[in-house]
Amino acid sequence: CGIVGYTGPRQALPLVLEGLRRLEYRGYDSSGVAVLDGEGGLNTAKKAGGLNNLERYIDEGAVALAGTTGIGHTRWATHGGPTDRNAHPHTDTNRRVAVVHNGIIENFVAIRAELESSGVELTSETDTEVVAHLLARAYADGPTAGHLPDSMAAVCRRLDGAFTLVAAHADVPGMLVAARRNSPLVVGVGDGEMFVASDVAAFIAHTRDAVELGQDQLVVVTPNGYEVSSFTGGEPVFTEFRVDWDL
Ligand code: GLU
Repeated sequence: CGIVGYTGPRQALPLVLEGLRRLEYRGYDSSGVAVLDGEGGLNTAKKAGGLNNLERYIDEGAVALAGTTGIGHTRWATHGGPTDRNAHPHTDTNRRVAVVHNGIIENFVAIRAELESSGVELTSETDTEVVAHLLARAYADGPTAGHLPDSMAAVCRRLDGAFTLVAAHADVPGMLVAARRNSPLVVGVGDGEMFVASDVAAFIAHTRDAVELGQDQLVVVTPNGYEVSSFTGGEPVFTEFRVDWDL
C-alpha cells in the first residue's frame, strides 16, 4: 500500500524505512526492503506485521543491507495471505531483480502458468511475483537484453490491471526503474539523490521538488536525474511541481 525507493550517495536503508513510516497511515499488513550492495549483490528483508517487526529482524543482523540504492514496501494483501514470504520485494529465481508493487495484476494467473510451464518455480502466492521473473528474463535475453528501462517497458505492456511498480537490478546499481497504471507514482528530485514513491509524504523531509507521472508512464532514476517515457508509446506525460504544504 506504500512504496519508496532511493538512489544517491547516502545509505538507502534508513531513508527507505523512514519513508515507509511516513506512509504507515495508509494501513498495511506486512513490509519489506531490498538494497543493492553495489558489488553485484541484492539483499532483502521482509516480514509480516508492523514495521517494528521488520526493524527488529534487521537489527538482529540476519541480513546485510548496506548500499546506496534501495526500495521498500508496505503491503495490503490482495492475492496471497499476509505472510513473510508473500511480503514484497519479490525477486526472480537468481535474485538479480527486486520488485515492489501496489495494485493488482489482473492477468497474473495466465502469466504464472506460462512461467511455470517454462520451468520457473514461484515462491509466493502473490500476483506481483510474476513481474520479477518477467523482468529478469527480459533483461537476460531477447530484444531488451542488457537494458533495464526497455525490459521494464516490455513487461509493463504485458500487464493488465493497476500497478505502481519499482524495480532494481543487481547488475545496475545506482538505478531504479518505476512505472504506473491506475495507481500513483511520484519522483522526489534531490541534490545528487533521487526518490520514487507512491506519495510525496515518503520524501518531503528530504526534498520538496517532485514530479508526478501520467498514466502508463515509466521513469528511470539515477542519483543525478530522471527520465520519463511512455511504455505504451507516445510523448512522455509528467508534471513537475513543488510541495509547499506540510503534512
Ligand atoms: N497485489 C499485491 C499483493 O497482494 C500488492 C498489494 C498492495 O498494493 O500492497 O501482494
